Amino acid sequence: MGLFNRERIVGKSPEQLALMRVAGLLVGRTLELLAAEVGPGMTTLELDTLAETHIRDHGGIPNFQLVPGYRHTLCTSVNEEIVHGIPSADRVLQAGDLLSIDCGAQVGQWNGDAAFSCIVGGPEAGRPEDLALIEDTRDSLWAGIAALAVGRPLYAVGAAVEDSLTAAGERRGIEYGIVEDYVGHGIGTSMHMGPQVPNYRVSGKGPTVVEGTTICIEPMVTLGPEANHVRDDDWTVATDDGSRAAHWEHSIAVTSAGVHVLTAIDGGQARLAELGVRFAPIG
Ligand code: MG
Ligand code: MG
Repeated sequence: MGLFNRERIVGKSPEQLALMRVAGLLVGRTLELLAAEVGPGMTTLELDTLAETHIRDHGGIPNFQLVPGYRHTLCTSVNEEIVHGIPSADRVLQAGDLLSIDCGAQVGQWNGDAAFSCIVGGPEAGRPEDLALIEDTRDSLWAGIAALAVGRPLYAVGAAVEDSLTAAGERRGIEYGIVEDYVGHGIGTSMHMGPQVPNYRVSGKGPTVVEGTTICIEPMVTLGPEANHVRDDDWTVATDDGSRAAHWEHSIAVTSAGVHVLTAIDGGQARLAELGVRFAPIG
């Protein structure tokens, strides 16, 4: 992390933020579609095809395909898989599976990136601890979002994510693991740009959030220890002990007016209001 501590963030102009909202909203709508369509008996490759068709039909391109060596539109990570699971015709989803879907799109030269976790077959098919993990990981993402403001240190985000998960775990009697091998990131004309955004508490303050900052926050949380490995396919990251994991992500813009969640359908307006955070209109 040390190399990035003094990195300056370059903010986007209002015009650029409006273009990033277009890309972000396409990602949000694609994930909304997948959440509605996913069910037992589907393969993760079918979800990938749905997503690619939706993105291309709406004037975007799947930006995961711009990552060297990756050919799919989504990452689909099931149960003990944390992130970077490769969609496959052989992976048939079962009721009760914990599925994390990560999706990105580029529209023009601007990018969006977001992820959510769900139980295949709906919450009633889920184990209570999986439902808790999904909810608490999502809430930790929003706690990180709520820590964003112009003039504040970027690493306040990871501290807020970690504090949220610690409090939730204590409330439930679960000791969550937060994955530290993968981090959030800046986003703009590429999906992955500086600065790094740790989803956990680190020493130091990191760069200062400036007007027009656009970043991705993406906590990856495990029911057991966070120790993990990359499988022989060179992509899939799974927990060492087989315990399940969840992953939530949004692309977010910060201005002096407040926060706009670029990949949320409503820009984050409803949830930000609950959290007492000012919503910044864009466009
Ligand atoms: Mg992502
Ligand atoms: Mg990301």
